[in-house]
Amino acid sequence: MSVDARSIRNLGVVAHINAGKTTLTERMLFDSGAQRFLGEVDDGTAAMDFLPQEQQRGISIRAANTTVSWRGCALNLVDTPGHVDFSGEVDRVLRVLDGAVLVLDGVRGVESQTETVWRQAKAQGVAVLAFVNKLDRPVADWARCLDSLRERLAVRVLPAVVPTWSADGLCGLIEVVSGARQDWRAGGEPLSDVAQARTALIEAAADFDPAVMEAFVGDLPVDAERLRAALRRAVVAGSVTLAFAGAALPNRGVELLLDGVVDYLPAPVDRTASGDASAPLRALVFGRVHEPPDAVAVRLHAGTVAAGLEVDGSDGQRRRVRAVLRMHASSSELTSDAGPGDIVALQLDGAPVRLGAALFTPGCPVEYPALPLAAPVLAVALEPRQAEDRAVVEGAAQALVQADPTLALRFDRAREVWLLVGMGELHLEVACDELRARVGDRFRVGRPEVDCRETIRQAGRGEGEWRLPELGMRAVVELRLHPVPHGGPATVRLGAGAQSELGQRLAEVLAAHVRSGLNAGWPGFDFEVVVESVVGEAEGDFDALSAVADEAAKVALRRASAMAQGYVLQPLMTIEVACPHDTLSAVLADLRGKELRAAQVDADAERSTVRGVVPLARVLGYATRLRSLTKGRGAFAMRAAGYGEPATP
Ligand code: GDP
Ligand code: MG
Repeated sequence: MSVDARSIRNLGVVAHINAGKTTLTERMLFDSGAQRFLGEVDDGTAAMDFLPQEQQRGISIRAANTTVSWRGCALNLVDTPGHVDFSGEVDRVLRVLDGAVLVLDGVRGVESQTETVWRQAKAQGVAVLAFVNKLDRPVADWARCLDSLRERLAVRVLPAVVPTWSADGLCGLIEVVSGARQDWRAGGEPLSDVAQARTALIEAAADFDPAVMEAFVGDLPVDAERLRAALRRAVVAGSVTLAFAGAALPNRGVELLLDGVVDYLPAPVDRTASGDASAPLRALVFGRVHEPPDAVAVRLHAGTVAAGLEVDGSDGQRRRVRAVLRMHASSSELTSDAGPGDIVALQLDGAPVRLGAALFTPGCPVEYPALPLAAPVLAVALEPRQAEDRAVVEGAAQALVQADPTLALRFDRAREVWLLVGMGELHLEVACDELRARVGDRFRVGRPEVDCRETIRQAGRGEGEWRLPELGMRAVVELRLHPVPHGGPATVRLGAGAQSELGQRLAEVLAAHVRSGLNAGWPGFDFEVVVESVVGEAEGDFDALSAVADEAAKVALRRASAMAQGYVLQPLMTIEVACPHDTLSAVLADLRGKELRAAQVDADAERSTVRGVVPLARVLGYATRLRSLTKGRGAFAMRAAGYGEPATP
């Protein structure tokens, strides 16, 4: 059954790892009646963490989708992975959402990944509510969390609920708009003035409703529903961030948050213009589905989808919709159709469809902008055990890369093996587990190695000549290399003297060549190759002459790159390490030994934090290292920060 687009909320729960996203999502499932048991991350029963890799590691890796109903609305919930290796997945998920709940650890406040996901959400225009979690811990500090939101995210943060507190910690919550009070324990005093908090909400909402403005200016009473509607406009416009509070683990404050989602997060029609169910279909394939495995998760932007419908894909394929399904984490349920704004799973006949593809009514093509994905930086070699395993492993790896745009496959010419390239160690481990599930034990996985780049220090030029006297053939190629700061992957251009058919053909060959490296075998980066001239002499065959020209070009490229002083660039990572004060000196000394640059050290009451930049090659296996340095009390996050030269050659 399709749901009215006004009654849909598409939202994600985003946070730094360990803030409690999965726990909170489990509580939302339970409180809304979608699930009858309380899943626990800590004992591997969380419904949203259903992949074996997730249950073993106790963290979420792949976004899981589920629909719950709350106060007559369909909430399409997406639990996003917080681990930095999977930030590509977070971006892809945010793109199909209208709202997000940003979860904060009430003890730690804003952490590095909190900032990252916040920026990601803002970049995609997603409206955000904050949830200050873990307030059941007596050391939690609600007011400091709100301050850290204001300081580090530079936003106007207003409490939508105020906790009541006693010497023993959290006692209850007060909803600011209605003043309604929930108490779990007696003796709690509000942590801030509730009347003042309500005035602040009215002031923030006033710009979005003249009636609220009038009441604000004249100090008149404001109708609660009217105030909520105006606040919702303020939230959707991004002019205010409402903060909720509670503790997911003992299930405190989750119902108020669900109310907040319905009241303040946008419906699809609040963001995109059309709610017309009879319009041509426009949909984006954004995720995979656990059960059934051949289904894909789809966000409908316009129109209605139903079983039997024919759809065209941006890959040029026409497919028929076999089934429309509503997702419930690890399972799903058939439904007849789904309308604009909804998120559902589709089973499609025909060729598998790639994530990021658009689906549309034949004759009404649409395109979605490609996501700027971070480049994969870490590789492992996939070594087939037997010669006959090679094709099977390669085929399965290709399929994996097809499904996950943050994975890549690259052929290493020197070793003649395929490299699987991903965002980090965990990402590759999960990918290899998945590959093993498909082809069994037909391959060995090499040690993780960083995926470097090759660039040049200065401009260079070179000439190359190649002869095949017995065929009467000769070619001379002249080319030039020059650095292009922030240019990305190396490119090839034909100069004025090379605009010929032979030149065109040569440019393609050279482009493939620089993609796999100049001298050191790493993809060329931040430079351009300009072919100045190509001269070919031959009696006959164009193909043979073009092969001769390729050889001449390789000679020219070798000479030019020697002059240009080619060198290797390594992937760099920004790293943030949090550790107890008494382990700071050990952590810092260890990081200095790993070429830590631009180091900054901060401390608060609970812990010290080190931030800086390190070469990825030096921090492989850092999780284990940090565990032993801090007896398991440290935590860290990393993200790719481009490429740079190693400090020590
Ligand atoms: P995620 O990485 O953001 O998905 O976080 P999880 O939901 O996996 O939770 C991380 C850890 O924090 C687990 O050990 C949870 O039991 C714990 N946790 C989550 N919410 C709360 C809470 O409200 N209070 C307390 N004390 N612990 C919590
Ligand atoms: Mg999780």
